[in-house]
Amino acid sequence: MSDCIFCKIASKEIPADIIYEDDNILAFNDISPQAPVHILIIPKKHIASADDINYEDQALLGEIIIKIKEIAAKAGLINGYRIVNNCGEDGFQSVKHLHFHLLGGRKMHWPPG
Ligand code: AMP
Repeated sequence: MSDCIFCKIASKEIPADIIYEDDNILAFNDISPQAPVHILIIPKKHIASADDINYEDQALLGEIIIKIKEIAAKAGLINGYRIVNNCGEDGFQSVKHLHFHLLGGRKMHWPPG
């Protein structure tokens, strides 16, 4: 997607503080961190939102969830963390490329806003 900021980060057109990369997945620090650790994990494939995930993406989504666990461990989040996906307008999704927020390094609150 030519006008997608996360596709541009994935293709290195836009710089980011990259934490992890493989053929299918990219993880980078959020530009506006909401916790001491705030990493975004994205598929390199453009999927607009969680609502656009299809059965053909099962393996990719499984890889992402396992990779989040590994990234959390490498970031030292031994006491837990939060994985967030904002979906659509009511979910307050601002970037229309599927991404998971990995938040940690402080005690989270519930319910979220
Ligand atoms: P969401 O509101 O769930 O769509 O989250 C989008 C996230 O992307 C926000 O937390 C932003 O701070 C983050 N973000 C936007 N642009 C960039 C960028 N160029 N590099 C890193 N993070 C970004």
